[in-house]
Amino acid sequence: MQAVRLTEVGEPLEEAEITVPEIGPSDVLIRVAACGICHSDERYRAGISRIDRLPVTLGHEIAGWIEEVGADIKHVVSGDRVCVHYLAQCGRCEFCVRGLEQFCRTGQMIGKHRDGGYAEFVKVPGRNAFVLPDQIPFEMGAIMMCSSATALHALNKARLKAGESIAVFGFGGLGFSALQLARAFDCDQIYVVEINPAKLASIETPGAVAIDANKGNPVEQITDATNGKGVDVSLELIGSTKTMQQAVRCLGALGRAALVGLTSESMSIFPYTELINKEVEIIGVSDHLAAELLTLIEFAQSGKLRFPPNAFRFVDLDEEQINASLDAFQNSIDHVRTVIKVANDV
Ligand SMILES: [Zn+2]
Ligand SMILES: [Zn+2]
Repeated sequence: MQAVRLTEVGEPLEEAEITVPEIGPSDVLIRVAACGICHSDERYRAGISRIDRLPVTLGHEIAGWIEEVGADIKHVVSGDRVCVHYLAQCGRCEFCVRGLEQFCRTGQMIGKHRDGGYAEFVKVPGRNAFVLPDQIPFEMGAIMMCSSATALHALNKARLKAGESIAVFGFGGLGFSALQLARAFDCDQIYVVEINPAKLASIETPGAVAIDANKGNPVEQITDATNGKGVDVSLELIGSTKTMQQAVRCLGALGRAALVGLTSESMSIFPYTELINKEVEIIGVSDHLAAELLTLIEFAQSGKLRFPPNAFRFVDLDEEQINASLDAFQNSIDHVRTVIKVANDV
């Protein structure tokens, strides 16, 4: 089969002809229909995120048809449409048995630690295959398993409830999903903080207020907009200590700040006035859980989570096209997601 693989860190991905993987009793073989090209893939190629096993087929945002099913797998059959949870967990360690598989001791990221979806076929543990309803196109099934799933996990970790207000810092892929999911939670006012004019203009959906951070301190703007009360929940999706501080400072009493963006810098806060006095919580968010994907698929099926048709750009399973798409991450400012169309819908 055809695959596009990382053979050397810092070098372009390469096309290769490799054998179709053989599955074990607990695995499924998926004929890939669509695979999202993620910013993380660019970091694997560049060596910013370390990869130990080379060559490896990248691609963790996968949707397709079940081609073959291991003897122990009962929830899907050959021909089913599926999307893939990208973390292959052991299922036995103290975290897996509690449904906290993102901390699995031996968890493997599909498309990083083991071969992923930049290929005609991919082998995954059967428990990682989730039935994808017919109404959800493959390209959406593929990409929602990464950024949308993490946005949903962040809202769950922040315990966002109906009627509460929320501030979202950063309107990239995560923010785009977070805004829609926050509405699916029936929350009250949504504030989205951005500096990019094109992104600010695209925030204008009913019920969301764009906060232009170029026009002054977003904390003051949010405080004014909430009549001095502050918001109940904030999500920091950028990975900057400045916006992390703002995400804490814009909270009202009993507010929860969920930090999703990554940074290696330290952040300072004033414990008395910013945390203790208001009983504010700062919550770390890492990845998502398999159990949350069913809710995500339901939201997508009911149209609460949606991607407009122009949100996708398609490329072939071709090394040149894929490498060019990875290059484009260095200066992308729009919401368009590139998806490898490996096989067409039948
Ligand atoms: Zn991804
Ligand atoms: Zn485990």
